Amino acid sequence: MIVYNLACSAGHEFEGWFKDSTAYEAQAAAHDLSCPTCGDATVTKAIMAPSVKNSVTKAKGAKEPTPAAQAQHQQRMRQFAAGFRKFVEENAEYVGPKFPEEARKIHYGETEERGIYGETTLAEAKELIEEGIDVAPMPPDPGKVN
Ligand SMILES: [Zn+2]
Repeated sequence: MIVYNLACSAGHEFEGWFKDSTAYEAQAAAHDLSCPTCGDATVTKAIMAPSVKNSVTKAKGAKEPTPAAQAQHQQRMRQFAAGFRKFVEENAEYVGPKFPEEARKIHYGETEERGIYGETTLAEAKELIEEGIDVAPMPPDPGKVN
């Protein structure tokens, strides 16, 4: 038996058990699968399958991460954030609050293409993304955290 994480076209996720992958393909092709929540027969395999992974690790007797492992993970995340900041600060030009304006100029080819960083509001960042301009949030500066 294999388990798939499935999702209907309305986004409900559920697990489906099949004899093998061929059995799943056959049932899917015949529209023999339906969502237990809304009955929708347009069912696809969900891309993310966290509950499947979870049940597999549990079946193997894996333990929950220890507090030490969690602390180590957080430490690594902090190091990554600090490294990312350093990279941006060394490779991009600081434009301060002019960030949205400069990002647009670069996007529309009105100024030389270069990496920039600066300040923007969430609303402005959303507008930039909607215009197709790549913006990424800068991780907090570990040295400036209160
Ligand atoms: Zn559904």
